[in-house]
Parts: sequence; structure tokens; C-alpha cells
Amino acid sequence: MASSNAVLMRLVASAYSIAQKAGMIVRRVIAEGDLGIVEKTCATDLQTKADRLVQMSICSSLARKFPKLTIIGEEDLPSEEVDQELIEDGQWEEILKQPCPSQYCAIKEEDLVVWVDPLDGTKEYTEGLLDNVTVLIGIAYEGKAIAGIINQPYYNYENNEKQQLREHRNEAKAGPDAVLGRTIWGVLGLGAFGFQLKEVPAGKHIITTTRSHSNKLVTDCVTAMNPDDVLRVGGAGNKIIQLIEGKASAYVFASPGCKKWDTCAPEVILHAVGGKLTDIHGNVLQYHKDVKHMNSAGVLATLRNYDYYASRVPESVKNALVP
Ligand code: AMP
Ligand code: MG
Ligand code: MG
Repeated sequence: MASSNAVLMRLVASAYSIAQKAGMIVRRVIAEGDLGIVEKTCATDLQTKADRLVQMSICSSLARKFPKLTIIGEEDLPSEEVDQELIEDGQWEEILKQPCPSQYCAIKEEDLVVWVDPLDGTKEYTEGLLDNVTVLIGIAYEGKAIAGIINQPYYNYENNEKQQLREHRNEAKAGPDAVLGRTIWGVLGLGAFGFQLKEVPAGKHIITTTRSHSNKLVTDCVTAMNPDDVLRVGGAGNKIIQLIEGKASAYVFASPGCKKWDTCAPEVILHAVGGKLTDIHGNVLQYHKDVKHMNSAGVLATLRNYDYYASRVPESVKNALVP
């Protein structure tokens, strides 16, 4: 370990502040009431004003401070002057106090690739399932995901449906004083921070999978896991948070659809606490700047017992998914 004026730690400290501003923009767009929804490839592949503004904010803020980075954002946007109001210049000092893992100390800015998902779980965002939404900033070096930041703008928010159910049952819920939103971050070799690590009780197989992008391959693969329970929720970031907080034991998505910006930051957080994320065949994902964006062979991720879930993926599912 060595001192933290290393480029990597300065980048993570800036990305933390930038992700927090992103979370504020996500909340502001909802508060203003005009989501500006655009269909990209189909009715379940959407973009909103928040996706656009947040991508402009993150990419421009990073590029101003770190002009030699390669930054790849999900949204295809016209290049235009970005409003100064969207620029975040801060950096979180707590991260700068942390030592940079020695293997990353000499990394140069131009060697880093940043994968940005300005809003993960857009479909759910448009449907008011706000706690499914995350902002993802993943950092890769030599093709490997090594640092990640996840902002969850509506952490502590209770979706109406859930709130009504709890009121009905007289259960406690997040009170009016609960702070809305949080930021989770991690660096391989240093750890992951901003949450309490928790595991699903031993022997329970709780599968989390897509809510909006399912198909026969996905359901065949989930069924083959012999699950005790299946959670269908939006967002790759959200599902990895479920794994590290003891709500689910495996994230199973046996389908193309998920992209590098969906997996880069979440993968780091999971790996930093001893978990494992691969495609459905068990291949490690690559994050070089020229890599294909699509994770064509799906996603399999667990905090513990990866081998159990990998061993249950049906051959028919594997044969249908070419990396
Ligand atoms: P989900 O679990 O459905 O929220 O998917 C995780 C991430 O992958 C989200 O960013 C989705 O937008 C993306 N994704 C998954 N499947 C598809 C698909 N068929 N078309 C477009 N995006 C997809
Ligand atoms: Mg996404
Ligand atoms: Mg997105």
C-alpha cells in the first residue's frame, strides 16, 4: 500500500462526489415531474431526461479533471456544451485518506477505462419502483474491473405498494428523518464500503433476476437452480446490492441484454467482498475499451457458493448463449 495521491484513488474520490450529484439529479427529475421518456430499441429499452442529464454530468465532470481517461457511457447523446450547473468538481476526502493498493499505484490516467451507466433500472424508474434505481461508475485497468462506485438515489425510500403493505401490518418503516440515498464504493485489494455486509442464511437458495427483460432461457435457468424463492427486480446494480446485503444468494440472468456499464461497478463491489461475477459459462468479463458492449452470455453472480449455482446451469441454456 502507498499514499493516496495515486491517480486511481483521486479518480475514485472524484467519482464518489460525481455519483452523489448524479443521485440528486435523478431525484430532481422525478420531483419536476417531466421524465421525457424516449424508446431506444423497444418498449422495454428506455431513456429518460435523468439518463441524459446524469450521463452529461458524469462524463463531463470526469473529463474536465481527468482529460486522458477513456470514458464510455451508455447513452448515445449529441455532443453539446454541458451546462455548468451539471459539473461536479468535488472529491470525497475520506477516500483520499485511504492507501492505494500497491499494484495500482503506478497506473496512469490514460490506462484507465471508465464505464458509466447514468441510470440503471430505467424501466423501473418510469414505473415508480424508485429503490431499484442506481447510478454506476466502473473503473477498469488492463481489461479488469478494479474500482466501482454505486449511488442508490432512493435508498430509504419506500415504494407506495410496500409502504401500504407495511402500514397494513403495522410494521416499522423508514421514518421521515431517514436520509434519502447512499453511495457504495470499492477498490480491489482495499475493500468495499458504504453498506453492511450480510449473507443469506446457509442452505437457502434465493435467486434474484430481471423483472422487465425475462424470456424462456432466463426462466429455465432460474428454475434449474432449485430456488427457495425468486425475486424479480430491476437493475444490475440493485441486484448486486441484494447479494451483499443478504437478500439474495445468486443473480441469474441467462440472456444477452446486460452491458459492460451494467456489470463493471457492481462486479468490483462484489469481488471486493469475496463474491464472484461471470457470464453464464463461468468466463470472467472483460472491460478493455474496445470490448463488445453486450454481455452476450448473460450474468451469474453470487456472494458465496458460486460453484453450486454454476453447476446447475442447464447445458441447453449454455448452448444457447455464445460469449
Ligand atoms: P434488468 O435486470 O432487467 O434490470 O437488466 C439489467 C440491465 O441490463 C439494465 O440496465 C437493463 O436495461 C439491461 N438489459 C437487460 N436486458 C435487456 C434487454 N433485453 N434490452 C435492453 N436492456 C436490457
Ligand atoms: Mg443499466
Ligand atoms: Mg442505464
